[in-house]
Order: sequence, then structure tokens, then C-alpha cells
Amino acid sequence: MNEEKRRAKILDGARVAEEIKREVAAEAARLKAEHGYVPCLVAVRVGNDPASAVYVRNKVRACEALGLRSEHHELPEETTTDELLAEVATLNAREDVDGILVQLPLPRGVDEARVIEAIDPSKDVDGFHPVNVGRLTLGRTGFAPCTPAGIIELLTREGIPIGGRHACIVGRSHIVGRPLAQLLLQHDATVTICHSRTQELSSLTRQADILVAAVGRVGLIRAEHVKPGATVIDVGMNKLTDAAMAKDFFGDAAPARIEAISKRGFTLVGDVYPSEVAEVAGSLTPVPGGVGPLTVAMLMRNTVTAARRRRGLS
Ligand code: NDP
Repeated sequence: MNEEKRRAKILDGARVAEEIKREVAAEAARLKAEHGYVPCLVAVRVGNDPASAVYVRNKVRACEALGLRSEHHELPEETTTDELLAEVATLNAREDVDGILVQLPLPRGVDEARVIEAIDPSKDVDGFHPVNVGRLTLGRTGFAPCTPAGIIELLTREGIPIGGRHACIVGRSHIVGRPLAQLLLQHDATVTICHSRTQELSSLTRQADILVAAVGRVGLIRAEHVKPGATVIDVGMNKLTDAAMAKDFFGDAAPARIEAISKRGFTLVGDVYPSEVAEVAGSLTPVPGGVGPLTVAMLMRNTVTAARRRRGLS
């Protein structure tokens, strides 16, 4: 049979993120007009990791663009756990600070768990504190981590049904896979979580109406992993440096990617093999421009929510 090739709809995460940011800016303006209050996010970065520096700069810029206050506290690579705990304690005590974000990963030798557990849960806009993790698991009000919360917003606003559908998540990290499973369950999906020890991955992923890849492996998810017509969400953010691979990977879009590799040394790719999966999936998020922008938008939203809750306004 000469079947016409299917082309997945590209889900424009960047557009949805802009929509959410407009709502956040309007909410911030209302808080200022009605209560004379401007929400404030403090981002703490320890050490010299260049990727972390870019992430924090983007978050601070987003705050400025939406009319929120922000501070960027840079601490040296040699910072000890106790010094970072003291910084967090100061921010917890500051009445004008609504959101505290400690950019991960922290340098080796700093006790990440202790630092996260020291953040006041009412200011934990990343949603990583065990109290917020527990609340999410119980379906109670807290802060959900930004990347999974952004994925739910994308599915909802794109009109992709979740209730009663089979969602399969590849990756079980505390930042993406596990909290996303909780959120999808709350939205009445049937959820399967896969990881590095999962046997026969494709037989599980192929059952999914919604397939989420949050692994950190270039092009792991191929056509054989995808049920025809499924929604595929690519969370992965990986650097591809091989121009020959980019040619296969991106099909028609390869020339721009190959140019990026020759200019910057890499192009950003996800966990999904886009040229193959686009021929099987019903819809697919691009990398970049899919899940990434939603993460920042949801951080802004959590910050305004924290400001409202801390003043009894929710
Ligand atoms: P982690 O490294 O914490 O977790 C990766 C998960 O993938 C683990 O659960 C691991 O299993 C699983 N895994 C590894 N190899 C395989 C395999 N071959 N088959 C099946 N499962 C596998 O990563 P994160 O969750 O922090 O991030 C995942 C990706 O998402 C990264 O590329 C990261 O950069 C990106 N990311 C993007 C964000 C965005 O805003 N767009 C935000 C956060 C992350 P096991 O548990 O058994 O080790």
C-alpha cells in the first residue's frame, strides 16, 4: 500500500509560554495596583557552571520583562554547605522575598538535599522541597515543579485529552519524571514510568497515547517507540556536535542545524529522533522551543502564586 507519510503537528511551546507570561504579567500588575506589592524571586547560583549561568540569566530577564523583582546572588565555587544554608536562612527571613531558587547542580561537596530542605516551603517556587513533593503526591495545594507543570499546561491548552489516556514517561528523576507522573495521575491518565532498567522499552512506549521523553540521551526515542498518532513530548536538552548525525536527525531542517554546529560547535537536540518520530506521531514538541520556554513561564507563575499565598490573597 502506498501510504502517505504522516507529519506530526509541531506543538509550539514557546507560543504557549508567551501566553502564560502575559497572564503572569497581568496578575503582577494587578497585585501592584491593588496591594502596592511587586513579587520578588531570588536566584542563588554557586560556582562557575556556564550552563547554570545562562539558565539563571534567562530567569532573571524573564522576571524583569513581566514586572517582577528579581535578585541574582552569585556565590563562589568554594562555598560550603553551611555558608549556603546561612544564605538560604537569610532569604527565608526576608519578608520581601517570595521565591527562592537555588540553581542545580551545586558544586561537588555541597549537600544538595540539606540545602533544598532548608528553603521555606512557602517560597520553594521550584517545588523540590519534600513538603511540596509530599503535597503533590497527596493532591494538595503546594508548588509543582516547573517543567512537569509546564507540560500539563501545554497539553491542556493544546486541547490534548489526558483523562483516561495512557501516558508513558521515560525517565524517573525528581525534577521531571516523578512529579509529572503525579500530575498526569491527578488528571486521570493511566501512567507508566520507564527508566534505565526497564526491559523492552519500545513495547511499553508504543502503548502510550502521550509519550514523554525525559532522559538526556540524544535521539533515544525512535519511530519504533511511538504509537501512530500519539502525542510526543520531548523534554531532553542535549548538545549534538556531529554534523553527519544532524543530517539524518533533522531531515529538511538539517542545513540550519549543521550551520549552528559549524558556528557554535553544537546544536540543541532532545531525546526524540525528530525526522523519524514526526512521521509516526500525531503531535510533537520541538527542541528548542518546546518544553524549555514553558519551564521559565511556570517559574514566573509560581513566584506570583507564592506572593499571593504569602499574603493570604489566594
Ligand atoms: P536525570 O539524569 O536526572 O534522569 C534521567 C532519567 O532517564 C533517569 O530516570 C534514568 O534512569 C533514565 N534513563 C537513562 N538512560 C535511559 C535509557 N537508556 N532508557 C530509559 N531510561 C533511561 O535527568 P533529568 O530528568 O534531570 O533530565 C532529563 C533531560 O531533560 C535532560 O536532557 C535535561 O537536560 C532535560 N531537562 C530539560 C528541562 C527543560 O526545561 N526543557 C528541564 C529539566 C531537564 P535511572 O533512574 O534508572 O538512572
